[in-house]
Amino acid sequence: MAEVGAIGYENLMFIDTHAHLDDERFAADLPDVLERAKIAGIDHVIVIATTAPSSHSCIALAEKHTMLRATVGLQPNNLAEAATGAWDDVVRLADHLTVVALGETGLDRHWHYTPFAQQEDYFARHLELARRKNLAVVIHCREAEADTVRMLRSDFDRHGPVRAVMHSFTGDLVTARACLDMGLYISFAGMLTYKNAQNLRDVAAQMQLDRVLVETDSPYLAPVPVRGQRNEPAHVVHTAACLAKLLGVSSDALAAQTTANARKLFQF
Ligand SMILES: [Zn+2]
Repeated sequence: MAEVGAIGYENLMFIDTHAHLDDERFAADLPDVLERAKIAGIDHVIVIATTAPSSHSCIALAEKHTMLRATVGLQPNNLAEAATGAWDDVVRLADHLTVVALGETGLDRHWHYTPFAQQEDYFARHLELARRKNLAVVIHCREAEADTVRMLRSDFDRHGPVRAVMHSFTGDLVTARACLDMGLYISFAGMLTYKNAQNLRDVAAQMQLDRVLVETDSPYLAPVPVRGQRNEPAHVVHTAACLAKLLGVSSDALAAQTTANARKLFQF
């Protein structure tokens, strides 16, 4: 059995459920990045779109590299400056074979790039389209937990559970429980490993093993001990080791369960 935190054991197979590999910071060395991910035991990476052009890019990457799957969608902070026709692009691209989810969508009260009513409108559109196309939904929520839960609950009350994940979760236990009650998954990123994130670790320690995911959110939020560097999928093992410790399981068990969870959510 591999030790907790061991890196490079071939029996550990992780899925990095959230990475922006279309980011220009990967333009020069993506094949090397993917090779390092394989060596670290990452067998698939979900590449996450934020705009219509990045939706195209994520699909192109997934067509080129078999270990990648794509999402298509419009990130809330990018809505105000989205080109006319951006949403029509997303709707059309949602049918592509490499696409496993819509997003990232959601609500953000930290930045003020997009009027909140417009964010709500597009969040609702993503949820509706996901049901219509039988796709998962990747949800971004920053300082808007109450609004996000309110919208999810109103959708849930009308239509029942939606396959969805709260990505890079930083909310409190009440928010996490509300999301779990509606059948969502909770995904943890590098923040979980940060010294000042004890509150988040306390929340994570309360989660059920069958509802958690791990992600990098590359190139952002690199976990300890690589904090401050460009993040990349191989680094998901550090967040996973931290989460395994919090949940009192081996890295093997966490890898197996989070991978099963991701496959159930994204259905590939
Ligand atoms: Zn993201």
